[in-house]
Amino acid sequence: MQIFEEIGPIRAYLDDQGRKGKSIGLVPTMGALHQGHLSLIGASKSENDLTVGTIYVNPTQFNNPTDLAKYPRSLETDIEQLTNAGCDVLFKPSNEVMYGEKNSLKFDFGQLDKVLEGKFRPGHFSGVALVVSKLFNIIQPQRAYFGQKDYQQFLVISRLVEELKFPLQLKSIPISREASGLALSSRNQRLSEEGKAKALLLVQCLRSTRDELLKGRNISDVRREVQARFDETPGVKLEYLELADSSTLEFLERGEKNSAVILIAGFVDDVRLIDNMLL
Ligand code: AMP
Repeated sequence: MQIFEEIGPIRAYLDDQGRKGKSIGLVPTMGALHQGHLSLIGASKSENDLTVGTIYVNPTQFNNPTDLAKYPRSLETDIEQLTNAGCDVLFKPSNEVMYGEKNSLKFDFGQLDKVLEGKFRPGHFSGVALVVSKLFNIIQPQRAYFGQKDYQQFLVISRLVEELKFPLQLKSIPISREASGLALSSRNQRLSEEGKAKALLLVQCLRSTRDELLKGRNISDVRREVQARFDETPGVKLEYLELADSSTLEFLERGEKNSAVILIAGFVDDVRLIDNMLL
C-alpha cells in the first residue's frame, strides 16, 4: 500500500494512474478501523481498479472538544488492516494540509442538517461537507463509499454532490454489526464489556420499534416505551428516537415499509452512539 500525507505527491501518483485508465474508488474514514470500514474497502475494490482509503480525524465536524480529544486513534493497526484488506493507497493528511490557515467555509443544507444529528451536533454536517468536498477535490474518485450507519450523513453528502456537481457516483454500504447486533463503531472501543452489553439497548429498541410500527402503532407511543426502557437502565440516556421519511428525513408518526427509517442516538456511559434501521 502506498501512503501519502501531502496533496502534490498523491495527485502526481493518481494523475499517472488516471492516464493508464485506472478507475478510483474513495473510502473516507477517521481511522480506528473495524470490519464496517473494511466492508467499504471491499465494495470499492470490487468496482474500481484502485482503492484510496483516507484517515483523517476532521476537527471541524466535532462540536464537542472532549469527543474530539477522546476519539480513538490506532494508526499502526489501521495501516495493517488496510494492507490486509488490499487497499491500494492511503492518504493521511495533517490539519495543516487539509486546512492551513483558512477555515471559514460553512454549508447549510436547510432542514436536512437541522434535525437529528444536525440538531444535537450543531455545525457537524457543515464540517463533514467541508472535509468531504476537499477529499473529492484532492482524490477525484469515480466512486465514493459511505456507510448506512451514518444515514443522515449519506443524504447530506448526496445533496452536496448534486448541488456542487461533483462528477462521481456515491455508494451506500449496509451496516456491519457484531453477532450481538451492536453496530460496529470506532467509538465502541471506548466502551467496557459492561458498556457494550448496555449499548445493545439501541439495536434492541430499533428492532422492537420496527415491529411495533409494522403492527400499525405510532412512533410517539412507541417512543414512550423506549424511553421507559432507557430510564430503567443505569448508565444509558436516550437522545432521540425518530421515524422519518427515508429520503427527506421529514418526521413521520407512522411509516410505510421501505420508505421510512427509524433513527436512534443515545449515550452509554459518556460515549455517544447512533444506529438506524429501515422500516
Ligand atoms: P468514520 O470513520 O466513523 O467516519 O466512518 C467512515 C465510514 O465508515 C463512514 O462512511 C461510515 O458510515 C462507515 N461506517 C462506520 N461504521 C460502519 C458500520 N458499522 N457499517 C458500515 N459502515 C460503517
